[in-house]
Amino acid sequence: MNFSAVVGQQAMKDKLLTSVHSGRVPHAQLFLGGSGSGNLALALAYAGYLLCKNPAENDRCGQCDACRKVDSLTHPDLHFTFPFPSTIGDTCTDVYPQWRKALIRNQYLDYATWMAELASENKQGNIPVKECHAILKNLSLKAYDGNYKILLLWLPEFLGNEGNVLLKLLEEPPEKTLFLLVCNNQDRLLSTIISRTQIIRIPPVDEEAIAAHLTGREGASQEEAARIAMMSGGDLVKALELLQNTENPYLDAFRNWMGYCYKRNMHMAAKWSDEFSGSGREHIKGFLRYGLEIIRAITVMEYLGERNGLSEKEKEFVSKLGSLLSPVKMVRIYDWFNDAAYEIERNGNAKMIFTELSFKIAKLFM
Ligand SMILES: [Zn+2]
Repeated sequence: MNFSAVVGQQAMKDKLLTSVHSGRVPHAQLFLGGSGSGNLALALAYAGYLLCKNPAENDRCGQCDACRKVDSLTHPDLHFTFPFPSTIGDTCTDVYPQWRKALIRNQYLDYATWMAELASENKQGNIPVKECHAILKNLSLKAYDGNYKILLLWLPEFLGNEGNVLLKLLEEPPEKTLFLLVCNNQDRLLSTIISRTQIIRIPPVDEEAIAAHLTGREGASQEEAARIAMMSGGDLVKALELLQNTENPYLDAFRNWMGYCYKRNMHMAAKWSDEFSGSGREHIKGFLRYGLEIIRAITVMEYLGERNGLSEKEKEFVSKLGSLLSPVKMVRIYDWFNDAAYEIERNGNAKMIFTELSFKIAKLFM
């Protein structure tokens, strides 16, 4: 994968290239960001650049023997470790054919898609101790090309305490051995690992870059691309999902939640808040943006009688909610959602925020 194929993220690309050009490549780096930020794609492009035999200033050549092997995921000095369910193998080698297929097709792979690919949606992925031992073995061998030897460890948060067997290697790796850890959730990562890596925080993708990608590569209209880019919150995975699904993935969550509040089923509302708050900060932010858009649609509908840009299911939901709550009450919810988005942005406790919102909204229905 070339840097040019990574959507947006110019500052990150520059930073990574600078580390190579200045001869200061840290031996353990943590690419921290959501799947839709392109953290995996960036790590792959970086590994490809480091292994390329004939790199240009800003990108790898894409044509040399090393580049071709990286593209087919058969480069002997590029190793991968990733979570998988223990029912289908002992080490990543056992699952490598599926991994190759999934990653060649999609460098913006996310955990849910990967598990679905393995037909293991209901099983828990894991990086087992046998895989940790395989890493130690693989990295103790000399590089084939006498150049870098790279381990790309996708989702190190799935390492249990057995991940500690890697600490010594992370701290003092053999010469020209690099660890690229691609992580979605720092909170779930062993602190012993965090402290041994250099953290690179990958921000969300620029909305303009997402919109340009949607119009250029995905054939979306300018208007649709701009709307989806705005709703995606800089998450390319989410943007592509939104483009594919005529139905917004947040609709069901929003409808269920409002249903619990309306029936004043606070037990279910609390359960919903609990589950939803674990779905990741970017996802929650996207949900709140979606909620704001729906509420705006309701209030606009009140005045203009228009429901443009909504799907049939959304229109149905919007009419129902609009019939249950007065415009004044809708405006109050709108303000609360804005406040919640502000608090989430500042690392507020999502579970508490949604539980409190549930009570306030339930009261409005009385
Ligand atoms: Zn090359």
